[in-house]
Amino acid sequence: MPERKIIHLDMDAFYASVETLDDPSLKGKTVIVGGGQNRGVVSAASYEARKYGVHSAMPIMTAKKLCPHGIFLPVRMSRYKEISQRVFAIFLRFTPLVEPISLDEAFLDITASKHLSGSAEEIAGQIKKLVFAETGLTISAGVATCKLIAKIASDFQKPDGLTVVEPGKEQAFLAPLPISKLWGVGKATQKNLALLGVYTIGDLAKLPPDLMHKKFGKHGIHLYQCALGLDDREVTPEHDIKSVGHEETFTNDLTALEDIYRELLTLAVKVGRRIRRYELTGKTITLKVKYQDFTQITRSLTLAKATSDNQQIFKYAKELMKKTRAGAKPIRLLGISLSNLENIGTPEQIGLFSGKKEKEKRTRLHKAVDTIVDKFGPDRLVPAALIKSPDKGDKDDEENHL
Ligand SMILES: [Mg+2]
Repeated sequence: MPERKIIHLDMDAFYASVETLDDPSLKGKTVIVGGGQNRGVVSAASYEARKYGVHSAMPIMTAKKLCPHGIFLPVRMSRYKEISQRVFAIFLRFTPLVEPISLDEAFLDITASKHLSGSAEEIAGQIKKLVFAETGLTISAGVATCKLIAKIASDFQKPDGLTVVEPGKEQAFLAPLPISKLWGVGKATQKNLALLGVYTIGDLAKLPPDLMHKKFGKHGIHLYQCALGLDDREVTPEHDIKSVGHEETFTNDLTALEDIYRELLTLAVKVGRRIRRYELTGKTITLKVKYQDFTQITRSLTLAKATSDNQQIFKYAKELMKKTRAGAKPIRLLGISLSNLENIGTPEQIGLFSGKKEKEKRTRLHKAVDTIVDKFGPDRLVPAALIKSPDKGDKDDEENHL
């Protein structure tokens, strides 16, 4: 197998940078994007705001305490998506092997492209130049032989960074970095590793693997391999997506069942639309509920036949909701996702409908629905009595489950 060339690309403070692009008077200021009023979480913070300790996923209230003079702006998802599409179009000029991680982040496998467009470093440099020329925004890149190291490398010299880890230099690059840079090392693991005298990735690489296994089980072995820079996961393009979902953080916590179900319906419509756009169906439906106190639960069920139907997604999400203590505790976030995905056209899928005609009818109906959603947003399809449009944080949740 030829040595792989992988680039991880990540826009710098993406939402905040887009806001500054559209309003240059924000340049150099503490821009914080997210939530509405005092609710929701930070979606992005400019580098100036980060100096105050503000970071994404932090409650807006906390950000306001840390950075009282911050400029708080609402999320403008459609604008970010527009720019995201332009950025991804640039990636695709270099390789079809583009794995989106979020709107502003992707892995590219350019192993086969480099003969056409130059070395991996040159390709990463060209992408950076094109992104800046065509969007006015900066992106950071990491080049390595595997995803793990490419991702760490793109973060290494942010913003506007380009870091290349040459083949064979992986361990030397990782060794001085804190173990928190490794995926899957949370606060608890950090503490336990500190007890073993492990603070850097290099410290971890020196431990006997048996000890890691004894202390942390399978996860320990995985971390040990990461510390050695071993990661053979492939770059998986969009059609190999593992789950499709959507989640919302609400301006006001939900307590009334009718509000909860209304939001579930809105989510189901969004998830249905997205999964049909990918021409996929899903067998497993997962409901995620985060409460006011930030505790979180998920409930899943697997259907006999995969679906992409709004009403079915809603029906089962509602059933799952009934298995929680719905209404007992105020809810701040809801999410629905579909996994266990199948491509449309498999025999099981066609069997969903009584005949070919029926299937065509259904497809036409969904196409019409999706056009309306594209134009007016999903609220238009929710029965009028259920419509209320609170100002919400909006988070995309298209995961490839790293
Ligand atoms: Mg980013």
